[in-house]
Amino acid sequence: MKKQRLAVLGSTGSIGGNTLDVVARHPDRFEVVALTAATQVDAMLAQCEQFRPRVAVMASAPHAAELAEKIKQKGLPTQVDQAPDALEKVASSGEVDTVMAAIVGAAGLAPCLAAARAGKRLLLANKEALVVGGEVFLRAVREGGAALLPIDSEHSAIFQSLPDDPATWGQRIDKIILTASGGPFRTRAPASLCEVTPEQACAHPNWVMGRKISVDSATMMNKALEVIEARYLFGVSPDQLDVVIHPQSVIHSMVQYRDTSVVAQLGTPDMRVPIAYGLSWPERIESGAGALDFRNLQNLTFEPIDGDGHRERYPGLALAWESLRGESGSCAVLNAANEVAVAAFLERQIRFDQIHAVNRATLDEVQPNAPDGLEALLDLDARARAAALATVRLLAV
Ligand code: NAD
Ligand code: MG
Repeated sequence: MKKQRLAVLGSTGSIGGNTLDVVARHPDRFEVVALTAATQVDAMLAQCEQFRPRVAVMASAPHAAELAEKIKQKGLPTQVDQAPDALEKVASSGEVDTVMAAIVGAAGLAPCLAAARAGKRLLLANKEALVVGGEVFLRAVREGGAALLPIDSEHSAIFQSLPDDPATWGQRIDKIILTASGGPFRTRAPASLCEVTPEQACAHPNWVMGRKISVDSATMMNKALEVIEARYLFGVSPDQLDVVIHPQSVIHSMVQYRDTSVVAQLGTPDMRVPIAYGLSWPERIESGAGALDFRNLQNLTFEPIDGDGHRERYPGLALAWESLRGESGSCAVLNAANEVAVAAFLERQIRFDQIHAVNRATLDEVQPNAPDGLEALLDLDARARAAALATVRLLAV
C-alpha cells in the first residue's frame, strides 16, 4: 500500500497531538512530511525527533531560528521554514497527499484555501476557516477537486450518519441535529456569569481542548460556529439546522430524514475517533479510543436550547442563524469579533458575559462586503477585528 503523505498544520495543539497519536499507531499507512506550529519550539522539536518530517514551520523568524539551531544540534533531517508563506507552501506541496488543518482561528484560512485549490484530502478541524471562507472556501474545494472531510466530532458524526452519495442528501434529509454538551456553566445562574474566570471557562466537563475552543464551548459560540460549519459542509438551509443540549456527549450528532427516522453516531468523547475516520475514510482504522460500555452507561438526557434559562446563558448561539441569514460576509464578521473577544477575556481585559456584547456590537457595526476571494475576506476580517477591539477598549476593566 502506498503511504499517505501527511502535513499537520497546528501539530503542537490538542488536535495536532491527537492526530500524531493516531498516525503513530499506523506507521505502515502514514508518513509525516510536514509539521507546523506557532511558537512551541520544544514541543515541535520532540515531534521532529519522533516523526522526522522533511519540513517544520514556525510562525515567526525567532522561533524558526531557535528550532533550526536545536534541530542541527540533534542532527535531524528536518528543514525549518517560517510562516505565513511556508504554511501555504506545505499545504499545497506536491509531496503532500493529506492536510490536517488544525490551526486555531482565521489564521488557518489561507493554508486551507491553498490545500483546497491543490486538490488535497483536507481534514478540517479548523472550523473558523470554513466559517470565514464560506462560499469562497467551497468554490476552492470544487475547483481544486479536493476531498473536504470534517474532523469536528459533530460534523464527523453527521457525515457518518449520511448516505455515501452527497447527491442524494438534499432529497432525503429533513434536518441535522447537532448535540451540545452545554459546557461548564450549563446549570449556573446566568446572572452570575459575569464572575467567571478564564480557568473556570476552560475546564470543560467532557473534552480536553485548546483554550479558545474551550471558552467557545462555555459561551456556546462553539456551537454557533458549528451550525455555520454544518450549513457549508452539508449544503442544508439554516432552517434545517437544530441544536439540542446533551450533557453526556455520547451522541455526537444526528440526521433526521424525511420519514422521521433519526440516524446518530455514538462514542466516547475522544477526538482520535473522528481523526482516525478522516485519515482512513472510507475505511476504518484503530484510533486508540476506549469503546462505549453500555452496561455502565448512565442515562442519556436532552434539554431544549430555549429551556431553563439557556437563552440568557448562551445568547451567542442565535447569532449563527442571524449571520447565516444576513448579508454575505456576516459569518466572517462574527468569527473575527469572537476571536478578539475571547482573546480579551483570556487576557482578563473583559468579563465573560461581555464576549457576547463585543460580538453583538461588531455585527451591528461592520458592513460586510460580500467577499469574493481571500483578499476581500482578509480585509473584512481585519475591519471586523478593528471594530471589535474598539469595543473591547470601551468595555475594558
Ligand atoms: P490549540 O490551541 O490546542 O492548537 C492550535 C495549534 O495551532 C497549535 O499548534 C498552535 O501552535 C497553532 N497556531 C495557533 N495560532 C497560529 C497562527 N496564528 N499561525 C500558525 N499556527 C498557529 O487548538 P485545538 O484545540 O487543537 O484546536 C484547533 C482547531 O480545531 C480549532 O479550530 C478548534 O476549533 C478545532 N477543534 C478542536 C477540537 C479539540 O478537541 N481540541 C475539537 C473540534 C474542533
Ligand atoms: Mg465540535
